[in-house]
Formats: sequence, C-alpha cells, structure tokens
Amino acid sequence: MDLELDAADRELQATARDFTRQVLFPLEDECEEHDGLTPESAAAAKRAVLDWNFAAINHAPEDGGRGLDLFQQMLVEEQWGQATGALWDIPWRPSIPLASGTEDQKERFLRPACRGERRDAYAITEEGAGSDPGMVTSTARRDREDWVIDGEKWHVTSGDVADFFELHVHVDGDPAKATVFLVDKDAPGVRLVRTPAYMHTFVFEHPIFAFEGVRVGEDRILGGIGRGFDLTKDWFVEERLMIGARTVGASTRALDLSLAFASEREQFGRPIVAFQAIEFMLADMAAELMAAKSMLYRVCWQASRGGADRGGADRKELHALASAVKLVCSETAGRIVDRAVQIHGGRGYMREQPVERLYREVRVDRIWEGTSEIQRVVIGNELHKRGHGVYSGWV
Ligand SMILES: Cc1cc2nc3c(=O)[nH]c(=O)nc-3n(C[C@H](O)[C@H](O)[C@H](O)COP(=O)(O)OP(=O)(O)OC[C@H]3O[C@@H](n4cnc5c(N)ncnc54)[C@H](O)[C@@H]3O)c2cc1C
Repeated sequence: MDLELDAADRELQATARDFTRQVLFPLEDECEEHDGLTPESAAAAKRAVLDWNFAAINHAPEDGGRGLDLFQQMLVEEQWGQATGALWDIPWRPSIPLASGTEDQKERFLRPACRGERRDAYAITEEGAGSDPGMVTSTARRDREDWVIDGEKWHVTSGDVADFFELHVHVDGDPAKATVFLVDKDAPGVRLVRTPAYMHTFVFEHPIFAFEGVRVGEDRILGGIGRGFDLTKDWFVEERLMIGARTVGASTRALDLSLAFASEREQFGRPIVAFQAIEFMLADMAAELMAAKSMLYRVCWQASRGGADRGGADRKELHALASAVKLVCSETAGRIVDRAVQIHGGRGYMREQPVERLYREVRVDRIWEGTSEIQRVVIGNELHKRGHGVYSGWV
C-alpha cells in the first residue's frame, strides 16, 4: 500500500493552495460585506482562474478542460474549500453530463463553458420534488418539430450568472422518460421568479426560474429521452465527492484557526489551549478530520487510479462509496466548525471571523446533492443488495 502523493500531485496541491490564499482569501471580506463580488472583482477573479489554469478541471483537454482525474480534482477542491463565501465556485466546473452531448452540443455548450465564455446551472429540484426527483412535474411535450417545456425549478445554484440550464424534466409527464434538456436562459418563456436569501453568503445566487411554453429543438436533448436519471446520477457522484473534498478543506481551516486562536488567547492567566476542555475539542477535531480525509482520499483514489485488479471501483460501487464520503465528510465538518465557533468564544459569532462563516456555510452540505438521510438510503440499498464489502473491504 502506497499512501504517498507523487511529485505531480504535490505540485498540483501546492498550486491550488497558493491560488486559494492569493486569489480567493483576499475576496472573502468583500463577498461577506456585499453579499457577492463587485463586477470588477468578479472579472479579475475570472481572469485569475484562466491564468492559474483552473478552468473546467473536470473536463477533457480536447474540450478545453484541464483533464484532471477525480483524485487530482479532489486535491484541488480540498484547497478551494478552505475559502468562505463559496468562493470555490468561482472556478467554473461545467457539469460532467455535458461530456455525453453530441458534437454539436459540445460545440455550443460544453466547449464555451470550459473556456469560461458560457456558464451552466443544473436544475432538477422543484417546489414539490426534492429528495424524490420522481415527483418532478416539469414536462416536455412534442409539438411538430419542437419540444415545449413547462415547469418551475427551485434553488438553481449559479442561476444568476449562468446562461444555460441542464433542465431535468419528464417527457409527456412520464417519470420513466426523465430527460435533460439544454435550455438557454434568454430563450422566450424563461422567467426569473425570485431570488431568495439563504443562510450562507454564497458568491452567486440560487434563484427560482419558471419555464413557460419554452420551445426547443430535438438537438437540445442531452443523452436521449429517458436518460435523465443516469446523467443526473453521474453528476451526483462527482459532486458528492467534491463536497467531501471541500468540507475536508473547510474542516482543516477551522482546525488551523482554532489551534492558533487557542494558543494565543489567554484567560485566567494562561492560553486557553492549556485548559483540557479546549484541548480535547481540538483533539476530537483532529481525529475526526483524519478519519474523514482518509476515507475521501481512499475513495477518490479508487475512483481514478485503482483499476479493476487494484481495488478500483466500478460505476455502481462508486455511487455507493460517494454517498458514504459525502455523509461522513459533511457531518464531520458540521461538528468541527461547531467546536471552532465554541473555541473562538464571542469572536466565533462575528461575521468578520472565517469560523462564523464556515459554520453557516457547511450546513448546506448535509442538505444539497442529496440530504444525509438520502445518503443513508443509498448506503442501506447497497448493504441489502451486495453486503458491506464495498465499505469494509480493502482490495
Ligand atoms: C443552497 C441550495 C442550493 C441548491 N442547489 C441546487 C441546484 O443547483 N440544483 C438542484 O436541482 N437542486 C439544488 N438544491 C436542492 C437540494 O438538492 C434539495 O434541497 C435537497 O435534495 C433536498 O430536497 P428538499 O429540499 O425538497 O427536501 P425534502 O426532500 O422535502 O426533504 C425534507 C426532509 O425529509 C427527509 N427525507 C426525504 N425523503 C426521505 C427518505 N426517503 N428517508 C428519510 N428522510 C427523507 C430529508 O432528508 C429532509 O430532512 C439546492 C438546495 C439548496 C439549499
């Protein structure tokens, strides 16, 4: 068993760390104070993504992406996840299902998105359809040569800066025909309903959009009619692993800050780290972080480097493993940032402190891309079908 990062991995990790410290951290206060970035800062950040070669790290070089494998993506996102304000979302990451598009779709959507000229937003959730996407009521019906789409989508992350959607609808209202359509935001019939405020400060918004008689051609179907759930599942697997990476990053920063604060802050004539109550909180944070991170690295390694004969994971196994990673890393981060706030005392409750922002921000990681309960449902299904080998086995 070789647990060492190779030289290329270490270099990538160091560059991602520098990018986070030099580009993302300096934007944190502005993002918190103004609930987002000024157009000038946003434009400068976008240029930095290109200069640092962090555009579309998840897509193939022939489509304009960086072509990193899942393990390398995880190393990068772990560093970005240290930044508050969800600034990790500045480096665009076009959704992976776009890679299954036709040549024409890649030319119109994927490649400009990799170059940073266009931006996508993935819209599945509705007012009545969350954990169970089978309850989606958005429909696409045929009308001569066209498809006509009607529905409403909630919590569309980056919908304010996106210019097209991967829109998950049911053809003819039939859940067996769940299908993803590529829909331009400026298409007639697309309407911004409202932009709700959320608990976290996020560099972009999560608006609600209505789709009212939106007409698109056959060429806007991604992957084929009825392939919606497969595509969405692929997106979930990748995103769940990246949530694991970012929450491990957030936990690491919370521990760093807490350790430094506890060593400097003095009460009753000594640094508070000298009190065992504080030291034990730090100890739990370190031990739990180690457990979550070990699991994250193992699964991302299995996903990209394992190989069938070397403990690698197939598509089904990866789906089951990604749920466990997301569950454990996001719940661990919740506990770690909670202790970080406690260790910081009153300062931990001030928005100017990164630990306060992390506290609000990691909460959603137990909700989006499938709640913790849904991750347990996936894990439970795996146990019923194939036993616990995928979790307990080691090659
Ligand atoms: C900030 C933010 C950004 C988001 N971005 C996007 C986006 O870009 N695109 C998108 O499509 N969606 C997005 N979402 C939606 C997100 O994925 C859903 O909120 C999530 O899947 C939960 O769905 P729900 O909110 O409808 O809750 P519900 O499904 O109504 O769940 C409510 C509660 O019931 C529990 N529950 C439901 N079913 C079960 C079950 N079978 N067993 C046990 N417990 C269960 C849930 O765990 C939860 O605790 C976003 C949400 C947020 C908050």
